[in-house]
Amino acid sequence: MSSYPDTLLFIDGQWIAARDGRFIDVVNPATEQVIGRVAHAGQPDLAAAVAAAERGFAVWSRMSVFERYRIMRQAATLLRARVDEIATVLTQEQGKPLAEARTELLGAADTIDWLAEEGRRAYGRLIPSRAVGVSQAVIRSPVGPVAAFSPWNFPVNQVVRKVGAALATGCSIIVKAAEETPASPAALIRAFADAGVPAGVVGLVYGTPSEISETLIAHPAIRKVTFTGSTVVGKMLAALAGSHMKRATMELGGHGPAIICADADIDHAAATLAAAKFRNAGQVCVSPTRFLVERPVFGRFVERFSAVAREIRVGDGLLPDTKMGPLANVRRVEAMEALIGDATGKGAKIVTGGQRIGNAGYFFAPTVLTDLSTDMRIMNEEPFGPVALMNPFDTLDEALTEANRLPYGLAAYAFTGAAPTAARLRDEVRAGMLTVNHLGLALPEVPFGGIGDSGYGSEGGSEALDAYLDTRFVTIRDYV
Ligand code: NAD
Repeated sequence: MSSYPDTLLFIDGQWIAARDGRFIDVVNPATEQVIGRVAHAGQPDLAAAVAAAERGFAVWSRMSVFERYRIMRQAATLLRARVDEIATVLTQEQGKPLAEARTELLGAADTIDWLAEEGRRAYGRLIPSRAVGVSQAVIRSPVGPVAAFSPWNFPVNQVVRKVGAALATGCSIIVKAAEETPASPAALIRAFADAGVPAGVVGLVYGTPSEISETLIAHPAIRKVTFTGSTVVGKMLAALAGSHMKRATMELGGHGPAIICADADIDHAAATLAAAKFRNAGQVCVSPTRFLVERPVFGRFVERFSAVAREIRVGDGLLPDTKMGPLANVRRVEAMEALIGDATGKGAKIVTGGQRIGNAGYFFAPTVLTDLSTDMRIMNEEPFGPVALMNPFDTLDEALTEANRLPYGLAAYAFTGAAPTAARLRDEVRAGMLTVNHLGLALPEVPFGGIGDSGYGSEGGSEALDAYLDTRFVTIRDYV
């Protein structure tokens, strides 16, 4: 059995237990065994974290951009050097196969590099003046200490997007990562600290999510809020941020449509989309969920996709042959059973999967459903699990109407052999991200974010820094 570390709070450059000594148990979803614990912050810990973040902001925002860049690049180097050790920890607490954990960590290192480099290019601009001898400058300044809330599905990647952008722009940040997956984000924060990020610039806390968010968002020292998680919680936190006039970035849920046209390479589409669907056991906000398949190729697509689903080896992520791990917690198993039960009760058919596997561990079979109707919960609620929903369509208008039916607008997928169809999808699919004929989302250098109920703000690309910068205007009469 691999070792698994307990996790402490990181406040003012120190790893410390909560002042009242509280801890929360951490469970391995592959075994349902308690493998460790994480410190549970209380109000005195949160007050200390905010005071440290204020001091950290004063130091970090005045440090040269080049020095900040150098420290961040060193953090990326340390993360790469520690990838095997941290991947094992991540798999034990989250469940995903080791190969996926490694990919997440190496991607996090690339994200740090990208954001560090972008920090050196956070340009303002000079606006030509109407008057001779007057300069007009647009200046971009770090917004201030940030409060970040991140979920358990990508415990490191969801944190690094926030910490990387905050540090690149000169902000300090307090992260509340997910209590269920605490040790891998702690390893990320350790890499930043070991690279030379000064005390107070980055903090890490765990505890009762609502208590922490209500305390941090309301605190006058916190100037920005960033959250990744469900739309329900996101709306609550956005409202709270609004009531305190805090800047906010919201990366929320989705219900990704995937449109497969008859002129596409069907076998390629099925293999590519199945890989996307079952990655991280479907617990991915950009997961393809509603598969809309043109009727002449519907049977073939369902058959090819289901064949891939049946071949996926489900098991403990630490075992070398495992291709899909358990769901991350028992809530997801219960949600899968409730959503699939509701759908089959209303006439949906199970092509493959549909049930839990084994008696221990939160394993769930890769599942394909057909004969779906829009009165089923699963066609409206984000399943966030290994379930693909497949219905045929006859016209592109019909497919577009279904793709755009829900208030979500995060990721969308399409496969077609016709350039005009691709162009029409580009113009008419209402989603923050669309990928056609390949999987091209969530790279460090491209914007990542949703529209509608999927939230607002971008966490990738050069846009990632915008959310952490205030725009200020300064005009000076230089001479008469
Ligand atoms: P949840 O809505 O209770 O929690 C989602 C995340 O928000 C968790 O990390 C949790 O710690 C945090 N959270 C909850 N209440 C909070 C509060 N008041 N203040 C601050 N943070 C808070 O649900 P869950 O069971 O953990 O996850 C279920 C749903 O969340 C999924 O079905 C999915 O829709 C969504 N989710 C989305 C993402 C994503 O990447 N967008 C990631 C994880 C979960």
